[in-house]
Amino acid sequence: MLERGDVANSWRRERWDSLRLLTPNWQSRLPGVRYEGPDPDGYMTVGEVSEFIERFAVVSRAPVRTGANVTSVRRADGGYHVATSRGEIRCQAVVIASGACNQPSVPQFKDAVPSSVEQLTPFDYRAPAKLPDGGVLVVGASATGVQLAAELQRSGRPVTLAVGEHVRLPRMYRGRDVLWWMDVSGVWDQRYDEVDDLTRARRLPSPQLAGTPERTTLDLTALASMGVELVGRWAALRDGRALFSGGLRNMFSLADLKLRRLLDTFDEWARAHGHDAEAGPPERLAPTYVPESARLQLDLRSGEIRAIVWATGFRPDYGWLDVPVVDAKGQLRHQGGVVDSPGLYALGLPVLRRRRSTFICGIEDDAREVIDHLTRYLAAHR
Ligand SMILES: Cc1cc2nc3c(=O)[nH]c(=O)nc-3n(C[C@H](O)[C@H](O)[C@H](O)COP(=O)(O)OP(=O)(O)OC[C@H]3O[C@@H](n4cnc5c(N)ncnc54)[C@H](O)[C@@H]3O)c2cc1C
Repeated sequence: MLERGDVANSWRRERWDSLRLLTPNWQSRLPGVRYEGPDPDGYMTVGEVSEFIERFAVVSRAPVRTGANVTSVRRADGGYHVATSRGEIRCQAVVIASGACNQPSVPQFKDAVPSSVEQLTPFDYRAPAKLPDGGVLVVGASATGVQLAAELQRSGRPVTLAVGEHVRLPRMYRGRDVLWWMDVSGVWDQRYDEVDDLTRARRLPSPQLAGTPERTTLDLTALASMGVELVGRWAALRDGRALFSGGLRNMFSLADLKLRRLLDTFDEWARAHGHDAEAGPPERLAPTYVPESARLQLDLRSGEIRAIVWATGFRPDYGWLDVPVVDAKGQLRHQGGVVDSPGLYALGLPVLRRRRSTFICGIEDDAREVIDHLTRYLAAHR
């Protein structure tokens, strides 16, 4: 196992200070290691996640070679030649487990933002105090965007949040964590070959969820009530002005509709499995608050906005992969983790084999199935 940094590198280097997992502690499970502390319904801090993964490395006796940056993987002699900062390796098979979130994904027009406005990605952002005083434009309203918008607004900085397509979720539903419902109802276990539109499922943004001790819902209604100004998707930048899409009402209705359908699925599961009495009556959330007249543009030269936080998603980095298996959008071509090149495999990518694939609780089942294929491949090619 080759790791360019230390064990749990992404959790040590690429996360902000206040981040907690949005998955509850009881859901943090890896083969042979699970949360055993006093707060199974709580959410781990970044430090606790790093310790958890470190413990797994010890318990599993994983042969990790740290400080080994892979600079190239290429086909050679029916197998692969791997070049690393700690020497070269020849092997028959390679599993790419380098992560789905190696770099922030930021629109190109960032280069035209006036230089008076500071720009940060979630990889640079650590805490509000590191930002200049004054207004902040947070771009993107998925898990990262809503969490940072709330934290910055609480720090006294007026926040404007540019909202694109998003997934609305309440933190709690019928007395349970919403991710408990995702788990038991089987939604999270839906397989890649059962999903209607796999390309779309793999591109779905992360849900509007935060893991706070208070277990509060952090949807757009909650943010608006904190004073965050909601605007549409940042569509273009012209002469120093950010131009936002209109039609917030339609976009919000779509997220509300999808949420209602998901809650219907949970309710059906509760009915079918005799959980209705225990869970209490089904709940429905009020439609997302829609501002009366959302601004369609914002002059970035006016001084109103002092910083922009790009919470526009992440993407993998395969700059080191010299095998033609990456598509035009920078994504690996694979079928359930079996990459389009003999003996090449992947783990940890969105909906790799099931909807939970990129979460810590999703790796065990995926790994078992992918390694099963790999073992058969090696046996056949011995
Ligand atoms: C902001 C954020 C919040 C998240 N919150 C949650 C959550 O609440 N719950 C949850 O279950 N999941 C969460 N996730 C998903 C989380 O990333 C995964 O659960 C988990 O970290 C994925 O592990 P991984 O090993 O597949 O990828 P990573 O954690 O990204 O690990 C990949 C490793 O590969 C190394 N690497 C990359 N390229 C190379 C190279 N060329 N050579 C050598 N080493 C290399 C990296 O240094 C890194 O250590 C979150 C992700 C992000 C970005």
